[in-house]
Amino acid sequence: MILRHRPYTLRLRHAFGIASNTRTSTPATLVELEHDGITGFGEASMPPYLGETPAGAAAFLDRAAAVLAEARDPFHREEILPAIDALAPGHAAAKAAVDIALHDWIGRRLELPLYRLLGVDPAKAPVTSFTIGIDAPDVVRERTREASPYRIIKVKLGRDDTADRAMIEAIRSVSSVPITVDANQGWADRERALRMIEWLAGRNVLFVEQPVPKESLDDAAWLRARSPLPLIADESVQRLVDVPALRGVYDGINIKLMKCTGLREAHRMIIVARSLGLKVMLGCMTETSCAVSAAAQLSPLVDWADLDGALLIANDCFEGMTVVDGRITLPDRPGIGILPRPV
Ligand code: MG
Repeated sequence: MILRHRPYTLRLRHAFGIASNTRTSTPATLVELEHDGITGFGEASMPPYLGETPAGAAAFLDRAAAVLAEARDPFHREEILPAIDALAPGHAAAKAAVDIALHDWIGRRLELPLYRLLGVDPAKAPVTSFTIGIDAPDVVRERTREASPYRIIKVKLGRDDTADRAMIEAIRSVSSVPITVDANQGWADRERALRMIEWLAGRNVLFVEQPVPKESLDDAAWLRARSPLPLIADESVQRLVDVPALRGVYDGINIKLMKCTGLREAHRMIIVARSLGLKVMLGCMTETSCAVSAAAQLSPLVDWADLDGALLIANDCFEGMTVVDGRITLPDRPGIGILPRPV
């Protein structure tokens, strides 16, 4: 197998603000895995606050390429992907890029959509939320109007009470659709977090993602015992190994391919979370339709999806998963179901 990779800068449609920062682009790396005349596609998206860089990914992918060059058979993914994982700690997004490309290659080789190989019904794919970042109320109203095709709006909070309430009130002034809230660890004081969640509960909010800092599991458990809304861990869960400790602490987990090294581990996380009675959300970074369409293959297995990453960028170089009447719609194409498209 031959692995090729190149950096690609994702240009965001609008500046995107979360509790800790605002940005206008996201560095990414695109990969191609070629063998036997078939090419599988993959992607690493690397928002800077997660600590991976295109240079670091390139160095890691060169090492992964050596493993892939030596592999006897691309179908041996239970040998290949653990071997690549073992090359170095971290590099979750770069590992995800290889994982996605390998799954895409296998699906293309078998001429089957990956969702068929996973044994899931694409008709059961959930609706996806559409994310509105932190911004001034008039901008939030405009973004909410733009989000009218979506049946759930996800909003980034995690500042002071006044600013957070203004965001919700701006949305509610123009829309009554259900809202999901992501505080991105922004409510460090648990008493204040509880007051905010109680206020949100009266405003058709479905759940709150990562209200408190990721390491504050005691505060999360305290909050969960009192919260009128389900609490979902995002920053507190990266990989499979993190899932069991969240039982009794959070109501559910947000799985992202770029955190957990790809489809192979994400699928296992869904199974383990379910066995522990945890709800499952499937999320993404800002990504092209490559990584988003890969994640979407798993979406019939989850409770909530936030797979809007490709909708937030201006230079999506693939077509793939679409959103029809708010619902994730998987293309009837082999592998992860994408086609390169000119930008
Ligand atoms: Mg989140």
